[in-house]
Amino acid sequence: MLQRFVTVAACCGVWLAGALGAGEAPESVPEEAPGLEIGTRAEPPLAPCEACASSGRRPVERLKPYAILEGEDMPGPEQRLGWSPCGACARGASQQAAFEAEMKRQVERKPAYEKHERALNLVFIDFETRFASGHFQASVQETRECAYLLDRLGHALRERLGAEFFRSAGPDSLHLIAVENEKGFLRGLEYIRDVRGHQSEDPNWFELARSAGAFGTRDTTLMRRDLLVPPRGAGLPHMTIFAWARMFVRHSSETKAPAWFAEGFASLCEHLTLGSQLCYSISYEENRVAFEGDWNKSVAQALREGKTKRWEALFQASMIGMPALDYMSIFSVTRYLYHCDAAAFAKLPDLFRLGRTSVKALEEAYGVEIGKLEAEWGVWVKSGK
Ligand SMILES: [Zn+2]
Repeated sequence: MLQRFVTVAACCGVWLAGALGAGEAPESVPEEAPGLEIGTRAEPPLAPCEACASSGRRPVERLKPYAILEGEDMPGPEQRLGWSPCGACARGASQQAAFEAEMKRQVERKPAYEKHERALNLVFIDFETRFASGHFQASVQETRECAYLLDRLGHALRERLGAEFFRSAGPDSLHLIAVENEKGFLRGLEYIRDVRGHQSEDPNWFELARSAGAFGTRDTTLMRRDLLVPPRGAGLPHMTIFAWARMFVRHSSETKAPAWFAEGFASLCEHLTLGSQLCYSISYEENRVAFEGDWNKSVAQALREGKTKRWEALFQASMIGMPALDYMSIFSVTRYLYHCDAAAFAKLPDLFRLGRTSVKALEEAYGVEIGKLEAEWGVWVKSGK
């Protein structure tokens, strides 16, 4: 039932999405994919813009759900733009210019997708939500289901965590690619390696990704659909949610979020959207983990028996050879942090991006000393929440 997922932990120079979103992407791509040009900056900012974290975009507060498949009519930009130009740093930019840029993007996206399909020699159904785009070799029904799930998750998170949390997410910045079988998956991996020049500290990354059937970077995830088929695999909807959430954390923290947070958030999103967690990540090395039963009950039981690791030890953990109890603990900690204070939780990706350690980020966001927060988590878990 469980699905493994390979991620490149340290050095991911993969920018497959550059080619998807904006036609010819240069080999050395800027840290933040530019997306739409919405105005010129009057002068280079001395410090990051606090209003928009120098993204040039401020999220708008109210959104209608939005998920659309290739061939369907795109709604007007006033309905689908999830942001407005940042008045503090994107000077001279107007909402009208943003709308016009969005109209242009809608016109240009199809040729950009087709170019990508030609490069891979594969044909996809494309879809967009406000928080990601997808390129799936799957049935229309399955693709639509995944698009709607993503959209629903995005809206639920936005409602709970606030619009600022989604500053960096968009159909141009996060891409999910689902290929039919091994042939397509190999083609995708080869494209990442040969055309995008991907390198990894691990010389075996290619083989590892090949065996896992899913491979993610900070802005693109490649999934092999035939390996996801239940009951052996987790299913495309589960992997779509898990992969998006992981990618979102890596992207919004500029890959500085610790492994526990990315993993915990991905499991949390699976739980929120689908009611169960079936996916997990491996890094660098093969790791087969057996999970049993209800994760919340398992963690509560282990906590009573004094078997769980302390938070500081979990925060240091990597995905290499991680035991099942640690995975479940990470999920439990992330779920607690999400439920106990949404505003504090929403600050975490940014604090990680600014280089805070896990302890520092949590103390700064939640305004309490880490030992106290950990003790409160223990009480919460044992109460069976
Ligand atoms: Zn700004």
